[in-house]
Amino acid sequence: MAKKGDIEMVVVMDTKASEDDIGRVVSEVEAVGGQAFVSPGKLRTVIGLVGDTARFMELPLATLPHVEQVIRVGKPYKLVARELHQDATIVNVAGVPIGEGYFTMIAGPCAIETEEQAIEAARMAQDMGAHILRGDAYKHRTSPYAFQGLGKRGLEILRLMSQETGMPTVTEVLEPADVELVAEYTDVLRVGTRNAQNFPLLRECGRSGKAVMLKRGMAGTIEEWLMAAEYVAREGTSDIILCERGIRTYEPAYRNTLDIAAVPAAKQLTHLPVIVDPSHSGGRKELVAPLARAAVAAGADAVMIDIHPDPRAALCDGPQALTRDDIAELGAELLAIADAVGKKPADHVARG
Ligand code: PEP
Ligand code: MN
Repeated sequence: MAKKGDIEMVVVMDTKASEDDIGRVVSEVEAVGGQAFVSPGKLRTVIGLVGDTARFMELPLATLPHVEQVIRVGKPYKLVARELHQDATIVNVAGVPIGEGYFTMIAGPCAIETEEQAIEAARMAQDMGAHILRGDAYKHRTSPYAFQGLGKRGLEILRLMSQETGMPTVTEVLEPADVELVAEYTDVLRVGTRNAQNFPLLRECGRSGKAVMLKRGMAGTIEEWLMAAEYVAREGTSDIILCERGIRTYEPAYRNTLDIAAVPAAKQLTHLPVIVDPSHSGGRKELVAPLARAAVAAGADAVMIDIHPDPRAALCDGPQALTRDDIAELGAELLAIADAVGKKPADHVARG
């Protein structure tokens, strides 16, 4: 059976197209044995065509009334491509929007270490004006001797952080077998950079019913990142958030090279929200605020920032964690930049 993911060609209707105009395109396509998937947008309807592209090319589609454009989707990803979905996807995270037109702040500890540390970090996030909390119970460490996270106990603390502040949460899931459990405790499942092409994990996350945040692979191209999103989307969800977190380059002066151009570049290619993690790119706390400012100015739909009540005692990524003093003004600064690029704070939307 034809699936949306098989779409090779799209017809974009103009803003004045009526039901009849759309029906006309659909019947032309069906008359040559094709299938048409109609996706109504806020402004424009887009019709995806599945079937024999050569036959579609012979149809007078471009000359039919109120057809604006006929485009061949030459990309290997389809469901997440802009061509198929002109309106940006706004992911609703327990009432908090992430996507075009909004600016969302995510903050919290890299790892959940103790209940006290995690709750204090959650309060710091709330005071800085964050909308969503981060905090990991499962850590993907380069060294097997490093702190691996508290596991299920960490998830329980994550839930307490959310209850304490009323904020939704995002947390990393490391393997397919953990998805069901982690999904019980969080609003967004995060797939880390080291798992960016773990396709069984991506598929399992796509089936979870939760929103999924995809870190870009350590040396992943934008296309590989979008293909990872396509794996998730094929399981039937478009609640996918792309997170640029720096790529590995020859430059050792910081942990990773934040690829700021990836923000506008990815947004041109996909309708999904694109956000930035300035903490895991900078790797040093001095770099986090400037990178966060640059990310917002470049159009990032959210930033995700590591904070810690006592970074010197942190069991993971202490050098990049911001303290209460560091974040005192950062939240307001980022909101001002967001405002300058036409984004309103995510909290302006009623919680659903
Ligand atoms: C993290 O956000 O804690 C993390 C491990 O990030 P990344 O997967 O980008 O290294
Ligand atoms: Mn980390």
